[in-house]
This record gives sequence, C-alpha cells and structure tokens, in this order.
Amino acid sequence: MPDDLFMRNRLMKNLIFTGPIFAFLLLAALPGPAEEIIPAETPAARPGKKPNLILIFLDSLRADHLGCYGYGRETSPVIDNLSRRGVLVRNVVSPAPATFPSVHSIITSRASNRFFLSPRCSLPGSEITIAEILRARGWKTAAFSSSPLIIGRSESGHYAGGFDQGFETFDDTNPAGKKWGWVSKTPEGIIDKAIPWLESNSRERFFLFLYIMDPHDRYHSPEPFNSLYDPAYHGRKMVSKGDATHYEQRIIRGKESRLKDVDVRHLEALYDGEITYADTQIGRLLDAIRRLGIEKNSLIVITSDHGEEFFDHGGLKHCYTLYRELIDIPLILSWPSGLPSGVVVDNHLIQGIDIVPTILDLMGLSAPDVMEGTSIKPLLFSSDISSRGYALSEAPFIDAKTLITPEWKYIHHFETELLHPHLAPKYAKGRALYDRKHDLREENNLVDKHPEIARKMLDFMLKILPPEERNRLEKRTPLTLDEDSIKQLKSLGYLR
Ligand SMILES: [Zn+2]
Repeated sequence: MPDDLFMRNRLMKNLIFTGPIFAFLLLAALPGPAEEIIPAETPAARPGKKPNLILIFLDSLRADHLGCYGYGRETSPVIDNLSRRGVLVRNVVSPAPATFPSVHSIITSRASNRFFLSPRCSLPGSEITIAEILRARGWKTAAFSSSPLIIGRSESGHYAGGFDQGFETFDDTNPAGKKWGWVSKTPEGIIDKAIPWLESNSRERFFLFLYIMDPHDRYHSPEPFNSLYDPAYHGRKMVSKGDATHYEQRIIRGKESRLKDVDVRHLEALYDGEITYADTQIGRLLDAIRRLGIEKNSLIVITSDHGEEFFDHGGLKHCYTLYRELIDIPLILSWPSGLPSGVVVDNHLIQGIDIVPTILDLMGLSAPDVMEGTSIKPLLFSSDISSRGYALSEAPFIDAKTLITPEWKYIHHFETELLHPHLAPKYAKGRALYDRKHDLREENNLVDKHPEIARKMLDFMLKILPPEERNRLEKRTPLTLDEDSIKQLKSLGYLR
C-alpha cells in the first residue's frame, strides 16, 4: 500500500545519512540526545528564508466543531480567517484519543504505541522532539502550557510529562505562578505570557509552542462565551457547570445510561463557547504578530491532540473509543511568504505523525530518520499527487486500534488484559467495519457482511506496526504500567 510519495520520503531520509552530510553530523557538536540523530539542513534550503514557527495545540478540539470545517455555529472566526489565508487540511487522524500518547507521538513523529508504557507517563529522554531539532539548528525555543498534563520534567523524580525537552523557556504555570488546574485553565492566561515573550524575542528566529487546554472539560468560559450558544438552559446543576467528567464517571459506573438530549446539547454549547473563547485569544496573539511585523515570515500551525464525544457513540469526553469524533483533528497552516492561500487539502488521509515532518520540510530541514511520519508538503502545493492511502490510530486504555483507508474504517479490540478493566463491558468490544463513503457517522457495522475485508485490514494493520508492538499483540501481552504511572493517572482522573 505505501505509494510513491511514501517511498520517496523514506529514500530521501536514507540518503541523508550517507556521504558528506553524515560526516558533517558527526563533527557537529550538538547538545543532548539529538547529537547523532538530527540531520543537516536539506541542500535546497536557502539561508535567510527560514521562518519562525508558532505551533498551537487546542486540547480536545474536534475538527467538525470549527466553522472552517463546516460546523453550523460560527465558533471560530479567527481560525477560519487564518485558514483562508493559508492551508486547511481535512482527514487528519490523531495518533490516539488521549493526551499523553497523542502529544508524545505528534511532537516526535513516532507511533503512539511507543509511548503506552513510558514510565510515569513521561516522554522518554531518548526521544527527539521538534523543539530539540529547532534549538539545535539555532531557533530560540519557548513553550507556554495551560494544561495540567503538558508539563515539564520534575527534578524530584515524581510524575512529570517531560514536555520541556528542547525548550529554553518552558512555562507550565498559571498567572499566579502555580500549576494549572482543570477548572482554572484559561487560554487568556498563556496568551498573556506569550505576547510579552514575542515582544522580547521577535527579532530572533524562534519556535513558540502554545498548549491551550481549552476546550477540554470542564466546559466553562467567562461571559459572554459561556452563554453564547444556549442561554435559555435551566437544567441540571452539573450540566450548567459544564462538568462532563461528573457524568462520564456516572455512565462508566452504570449509575446513569445517558443524558437527556437537552442536557447533551447544553454541554456541547458550553464546549463551543470554550472554542470561541480560545479563538478570541488566538486573535490577540495574531494581532501581536502583525503589530510586531513578523507575520510574513512566521509559519503558524494549529492542531489538536484528539476530539471529544457528545453521545455520538454512547459516551462523553474522550479516551475510550476510536470513532471519528475522537480522532478527526484540525490542521491549519499559514505562512504568507511560504505557503499558498485558500488551499484545502482533501481526499487524502493524513496522520498526526506527519505534522512535524511536514513542518520541518517547509522550514528547509530534514526529519531525523527515526521519525515515522511523512511530509505532506507536496500536497499543500499540488492536488495532483498521490499519498500514503491509510491512517492508523490507537487507544491504549482499551487496547484497540483502527486502520482507515479511503473506502473503509476497521476497528479491532485486541484481547489483552485492559488498562481500564471495568470499562471493558462498555467500550472494549470486538471488531467493527464501516463504509467511509456511505456511513460517515459510523453507525452501520459491516464486519459480518465483509469478513474478508476485515481480515485484510487487520493483516495490514499488524504489518505496519513496529515489531515490538506486533510481538506484544501476537503474544497477547497486556499493557501494564508502573506504579507511579497508575498513581498519577488516578490522580488525574483517568483511572479509578
Ligand atoms: Zn487531550
């Protein structure tokens, strides 16, 4: 199934590690684990033309709730406008429907199953992140996060995300200098920090990474955003507070089967309010970029780690299924002096692990050979190009994976012991096959009607996995976490 583009990319990566460039690499004194892995700039790269990079994640943002992806509400006028001035990519598949494996996977361009068993759920120091690559090549690197999960490495050895790897400046604290909480998170807080940083550093070539926790539950934003889309609601108290976790846990424990439609629609309206709040704050950032005169040569990329469910398939929030509401993520790229405007990339399947190789390719840098994604740069400039033709997403909590092709989507739950065993009766069930051309909502399971297609999809899924993961599944070895990881996942509400 790998096509010409995929093969060309692998060939290019291999060529980079031969000849004089590799000799240069050995001589270059780069700090840290990136030393022998980060390749040199591509021969075609022109000095002085390399852009700044501003990479923005919005946690739990499903693509179909943005105006530019066709949503009925105008939740995102700023992002919509940015997409019109750049490139909007459809059919981007998240590596996993949960934060840690997805973000680890995207920023390293490595399969998410490589991070399922990371001690303390942290990013292994041996992995190479985009921040390390850009820092080694002379970009000034800074990150601001309003997520209680996307945090730095703790010197005490206790739980830490390790997301500070490669950043000269890494700030995961709220305006009071304390760690963010689930309720106190605000996009405004980190934009307030990012703008002064830009004002001080805009004369240098930089990489600014912003991890905005909204629209993650709890869905609560300041007015007018909180009352924007369903102001007349006077229903259940915890729904009014936007506390989806409360109901998610009641459903998982069998205390409630589902909410009334009016309650679900209100949670969705509050979620949309958070999107609009975050969109407004991104607008403040874009205004600052224009004011500082760096817009033309700044590559701005907006994406998400995973989506969010509102009873699309019987549940709330994320982590436990692989349906499209949880794994279809947005991808918008804008760079006035380096990218076309008004382009929509459609009819291709893009993986989250392709994002960093694409960014590096646009910036005139090669991706290290250990990266497993493929640059989609050619697709941003021409519609007459074939692409990989499949995408993979993996859900560690239920040990399930999905393989997606233009025609079919196949979901397989592997029969291993589950990380979250009491969820098994509800979510970790069997196999499913959906016709992507005629069943976009994934409602009609055709696995019994087309067993031969399901079998082929499973065979191919196993073939493209890293050998270690394939061996684990063939031996039916359960995913087990170290005690620290379990303790920390419990403290974050992921395990009970
Ligand atoms: Zn997340």
